[in-house]
Amino acid sequence: MTRIELDTIQAWQNLSDHTAPKCGLPCQNHKPERCCEPMFCDMAEEHAQKHWDAFPLYSARYLRGETRLKFMGDQGCLIPPHLRPSCSLHQCMINSLGFMLHEPAWTRKYFELREKIDELELKRYEEKQ
Ligand code: SF4
Ligand code: SF4
Repeated sequence: MTRIELDTIQAWQNLSDHTAPKCGLPCQNHKPERCCEPMFCDMAEEHAQKHWDAFPLYSARYLRGETRLKFMGDQGCLIPPHLRPSCSLHQCMINSLGFMLHEPAWTRKYFELREKIDELELKRYEEKQ
């Protein structure tokens, strides 16, 4: 794996770590699977194969028929943030309002982390050409 790929993986992880506390107990979507949908798992699977040559395994829960989400484990999603970009970027307040209400510093950091990902994904794309 190249330096740029490693940095890109870390940048996605940083964004995921930043949004995780906002998707904990105060989650606004009271369904057990929150805002996850099978369609997003399918998108992640396609992205992983096409852009990272990765073939993530389906979760045991999914294989037992306990969830509609092929990558959902007991403690949340089993695949790393860079393989599921749509899910990693998503935060419902950002998506609906464009910012986190009453939290300008958190919002600023969220967009800085996204910008860093954009830079690295572009470098990764150029490196592959
Ligand atoms: S993005 Fe919103 S709905 Fe989804 S887990 Fe986070 S707080 Fe809940
Ligand atoms: S976060 Fe994971 S389980 Fe949820 S929709 Fe995305 S890939 Fe599927």
